[in-house]
This record gives sequence, C-alpha cells and structure tokens, in this order.
Amino acid sequence: MESKEDIERVKCLIIGSGPAGYTAGIYASRANLNPVVYEGLQPGGQLTTTTEIDNFPGYPEGVTGPVMMGELKKQAERFGCDCRWGIVTDVNLEQRPFKVKVDGNKEIEADSVIIATGATAKYLGLESEEKYRGSGVSACATCDGFFYRGKDVAVVGGGDTACEEASYLAGLCKKVYLIVRKDFLRASKAMQERVLRTKNIEILWEHNTLELTGENGVEGCTLISKLGTPMEKEVKIAIDGFFLAIGHHPNSDVFSKYVDTDEQGYILTQAGTPMTNVKGVFACGDVQDPNYRQAITSAASGCQAAMEAERYLAEMN
Ligand code: NDP
Repeated sequence: MESKEDIERVKCLIIGSGPAGYTAGIYASRANLNPVVYEGLQPGGQLTTTTEIDNFPGYPEGVTGPVMMGELKKQAERFGCDCRWGIVTDVNLEQRPFKVKVDGNKEIEADSVIIATGATAKYLGLESEEKYRGSGVSACATCDGFFYRGKDVAVVGGGDTACEEASYLAGLCKKVYLIVRKDFLRASKAMQERVLRTKNIEILWEHNTLELTGENGVEGCTLISKLGTPMEKEVKIAIDGFFLAIGHHPNSDVFSKYVDTDEQGYILTQAGTPMTNVKGVFACGDVQDPNYRQAITSAASGCQAAMEAERYLAEMN
C-alpha cells in the first residue's frame, strides 16, 4: 500500500504518445505545466508502424513514422516534458485531483488530464484469427511484412489502410490478394489507382473471410464470394500471411465510466474543442476523432488540449 507521501502529484498528465500526446507535451512544457507523458503500449503510437509519411506539412521529401515520432518526443523533452514508459490501468475522474493508476500499482494525482490514447486495429473476430495471431496473422504490414518476403499474402479491407498495406506488401511479396467485401474500394482515388496498377495485387471483390487454415501457421484461407446471393461459393487461396486492415477501435475503455463516448467508443468532445464532459479532462487525437485520423489533425488537437489545460489550471489557481 502506497502512503500519501509516495503518491506523485502532477499538474498536467498526458496519457498516450502519438502525434497528439507529444504535441500536447511540447505545448504543456513550454507553458510550464511540467507535464508527464505516459507512453502506453506502443510508444509513439500508430505512426511507428507506418513507413513513409508524405502528407505532413514541412517534410518535402517525406519522413518515416518512427523518425517523426522520435523527433516529436525529443522536441517535447527539450522543453522538460517527462516521457515515461507505462500503461494507465485505472482512473478515477470523479475526485479532484484526478486519480490515475499506472501499470496496476503506481498512483498519480493529476490536476488536469489529457487523453491521447489513440485507436487500435480491429480484427474480424474469427477463432482461427486468434489461433494464428503472431504466426501468420498481423494488423501491421510495415511491422511484419518483412517476414513474408517472396511469399503470398492477403490483406482484408477496402479503405486507405488496406490499399496502403497491400501496396507496401506488393513490394516485398510475390503476390498480394486484397479481400474486399463490397464491389468497390472505399479508399481515396489516388490509393485505388496505386493498387489497381500494381501487377502483383489481385483484388477479390465481394469476398468474405470464413477461416484460416494451416498446420504450421497460416497456409491458406477459405473465403465466401458473393455471400447471400445465388452465386455464393466457397473459394480457397494459399497464403502465408493474413493482414487485417478493416478499421480501428478507440482506446477509451479505461475512461468510459467517466467520460462520454459515442456508440463506437470515441470520446465525445465539445465541437471544435478538446473538452470532454469532465472539467479538467481533455481528449485529443484518434481517441476522439473517427473522421480525419491524420497525424496533422491529431497534432493540432494535442496543441488545443494543452492550451485548454493551461487555461483550466490558471482558473483553478
Ligand atoms: P476505413 O473505415 O476507411 O475502411 C475500413 C475498410 O474495411 C472498409 O473497406 C470496410 O468495408 C472494411 N471492413 C470493415 N469491417 C470489415 C469486416 N468485418 N470484413 C471485411 N471488411 C471489413 O478504415 P481505414 O483504416 O482504411 O481508414 C480510416 C481513416 O484513415 C480513413 O479516413 C482513411 O482515409 C484514413 N487513412 C488515410 C491514409 C492516408 O491518407 N495515407 C492511410 C490510412 C488511412 P466497407 O467499405 O464494406 O464498409
């Protein structure tokens, strides 16, 4: 049991470390709020699993996700931001100061909290997907694609992520199947064109995944084409890797008892602001944004969250 003296008091606690968390860290430290960032399960966030980022202003030649996140962290640390390993496992946002538990034991009292926990890739929910997780099933082509060099793989999804992952894998693998449940891609025109002109990507239109098979990791996949129509039929493909790219789930579970969310779990903020329904608790980045989900919009909302935290703390004193 920690005594009162062991409980650390923090003026501005930032939970999560993608572009939103680190940008909040830069602004909060420059405003002398002595912020502490808990980096979470994936320090640097989702962008550390991306290759090239070509659309962040100020990088005419592009930049890789890990480099950009490393630089954001360094920039925050330059102004005194305290970035730590650790996962927030419990909160009490009813009491003031707010109570936050890290890694199940360390307790922190925070005068303001900025939630920047991002979103996590969704899975289809198949039993076989669970069975092969880590041995053929992945939700991150840029993390795991390397293991499938010269092999055949499949990517599920029809959005920008799926097209980006398929294009990336096409540069490494012999063949990439893109499994799309509709007869069109939801991705941007530019992304669609990139996929359509890549010779070793084959799009399986109107296909749904039934199960993955294999003795030693994934060796095949059973699909249903034209599900629910008279043309419905079972299709088998031989693959070594299966990549999910069907969207994300916001990482808000630990806060949802206190903070209002929509039906998907995205934290609700007052329009145009990072303000949640709890005064002194702010949300920024993908955990509150089902629409834009870009590094630049996340960073901008991180800035807003830090500025609002500063105003809130000034009013408190
Ligand atoms: P999206 O929600 O845009 O797309 C998800 C895709 O997965 C859809 O095609 C959807 O099908 C499909 N899907 C969902 N559930 C299932 C399921 N159970 N079985 C089969 N297919 C399924 O997610 P993304 O992650 O692609 O993109 C999210 C946001 O991020 C978008 O706004 C996107 O533009 C942006 N983004 C931008 C990038 C860039 O600019 N470089 C890169 C990556 C993402 P259906 O169409 O049938 O619903």
